[in-house]
Amino acid sequence: MGRDGLAAAAGYCGGTYDEGVTEAQRTSRTGKRVILAKPRGYCAGVDRAVQTVEEALKLYGAPIYVRKQIVHNKHVVRTLEAQGAIFVEENEEVPEGATVIFSAHGVAPEVYEQAKERSLKAIDATCPLVTKVHHEAKRFAAEDYDILLIGHEGHEEVIGTAGEAPEHIQLVDGPEDADRITVRDPNKVVWLSQTTLSVDETMETVARLKKRLPMLQSPPSDDICYATSNRQHVVKEIAAECDVVIVVGSRNSSNSVRLVEVALDAGARAGHLVDFAREIDDAWLAGARTVGLTSGASVPEELVQEVLAHLAERGFTDVEEVVTANERLTFSLPQELKRDMKAAAAAQG
Ligand code: SF4
Repeated sequence: MGRDGLAAAAGYCGGTYDEGVTEAQRTSRTGKRVILAKPRGYCAGVDRAVQTVEEALKLYGAPIYVRKQIVHNKHVVRTLEAQGAIFVEENEEVPEGATVIFSAHGVAPEVYEQAKERSLKAIDATCPLVTKVHHEAKRFAAEDYDILLIGHEGHEEVIGTAGEAPEHIQLVDGPEDADRITVRDPNKVVWLSQTTLSVDETMETVARLKKRLPMLQSPPSDDICYATSNRQHVVKEIAAECDVVIVVGSRNSSNSVRLVEVALDAGARAGHLVDFAREIDDAWLAGARTVGLTSGASVPEELVQEVLAHLAERGFTDVEEVVTANERLTFSLPQELKRDMKAAAAAQG
């Protein structure tokens, strides 16, 4: 599947919410409706990461090794595997001299070093918005700040960012964690964050930190990315009207899991995360009149369309799309890949 495949299926721009729903289903009015959130689905960083694997497969041929899941979505990973991508946990699993792609979540500097030692051809698909946080961490560490990194312990992005300055960074995993923090100089402390957190919970954590550390500085610009904030914002708008909110996304997708939490906090009567339409339990829909539907930033639009078709078969035929932002951001492919693509095109004349 090339640009017309996974990557294209992802960007909402070309799609409509009608897909997968027959005219007969749409015109039969049952009083059951779906509120479809927009923005939803693929963000610019995920789109770029998936395209990176697809283009690398085209250019270098299979197999292409990918360290960790390129993005946290089962369907995307399976589809790329079928095209010849091999997902590994660490560089040691990649044969010497082979091509390895680093995932959208970013890696610590030592991972680049390991790749060099094994003579791997490394292509970095780290989202530029994650790279921005890495730069902030390096800059504040160079100025000898204590850095409080708000994020989820064990998440790949947090491991990568913390790896930039392990002596200066402490992890703060939620508001409760704020109380155990100790710093060298309370006048020289800054907080940074994982890009995919709950905006509200992060602000709660910061407020709690500030009670103990009034001079705590904020990041120079938002670390929680535009895609995370936008998807949470629209879910908050629709949640109170919904008997149940269904979020399409994988369990290891931080931003998808947050969407369920945000929906519940904002008044949805129930919220569920599903990878695929077939996971929807009919009991969730019993008695429901309004279903909210959205998807995480690593979810192709086709999976949302399958859920819409599944809901239509159960009488949820009115679909209203609520739009709170239009996203136009795109990122260009990694330099190292673009360079090779250009050289290959030139060689072909
Ligand atoms: S969720 Fe945000 S930080 Fe993560 S890949 Fe998408 S745009 Fe980048």
